[in-house]
Amino acid sequence: MEWEQLKTIRGQLENRAIDMGARFFGVADLTGTLETIVEQGGNFLAVFPRALSLGIALNDGIVDQLPRHKEVGVARTYDYLYYTVNQSLDRIALSLSVILNENGFQTLLIPASDTIDNKKVQGLFSHKLSARLAGLGWIGPSCLLITPELGPRVRWVTVLTDAFLESGNPLPNQCGDCQKCVEACPPKAFTGRPFDSLESRDARFNVQRCIDYRLYLKNKTTGVKVCGICVYVCPFGFREA
Ligand code: SF4
Ligand code: SF4
Repeated sequence: MEWEQLKTIRGQLENRAIDMGARFFGVADLTGTLETIVEQGGNFLAVFPRALSLGIALNDGIVDQLPRHKEVGVARTYDYLYYTVNQSLDRIALSLSVILNENGFQTLLIPASDTIDNKKVQGLFSHKLSARLAGLGWIGPSCLLITPELGPRVRWVTVLTDAFLESGNPLPNQCGDCQKCVEACPPKAFTGRPFDSLESRDARFNVQRCIDYRLYLKNKTTGVKVCGICVYVCPFGFREA
């Protein structure tokens, strides 16, 4: 297919995503990281050289309440926000996938929220990897994708495709000397090491501490596994009232 046609399709995809409520749209070139992708999700992912990254902004009115995440009302409202945003993301992904399929391309939808490896707490494919490669943000010591516009107050979904759409370029890490997410995490789950694509997530994040803390809150207090302090505290998303 001609470059101009691919450009037109890319425009259609972006317009559809924005019309359906996405705040972020980007295309990642996966060709340099296929080995890592296959290792995590399996060989069948190797046929997709591109990924569409789509992000919906999390509602500030709810995220700003998270310092009170031990209260039932706050925790359940945030939990509900996650649920509804994930559903919207999956719908956007399906709609964009249809556009690509109608133009003769293969796609694979990665669910907005799905864990296939309970031990490693990993999905089939990393939404954050795709969003980072698409140039929509960088990874903080919190292991979250940090956008310049909204920090980590964004949820992501991914559509893998064999359409060679024009891709973005990764952004430099802009955390600087900040360690607010590291200091604020209640069970101290982050080591404070900056992101390094050659290191495993374990070098930065003791995921079990996060799980145990949220499980404790679910069982003892709120009924849901919700914390979100690392999302709340990042200065890139935080706005003084
Ligand atoms: S959700 Fe809470 S416990 Fe988990 S990593 Fe973030 S701040 Fe720490
Ligand atoms: S809180 Fe600070 S260190 Fe953590 S991701 Fe945000 S800017 Fe980076």
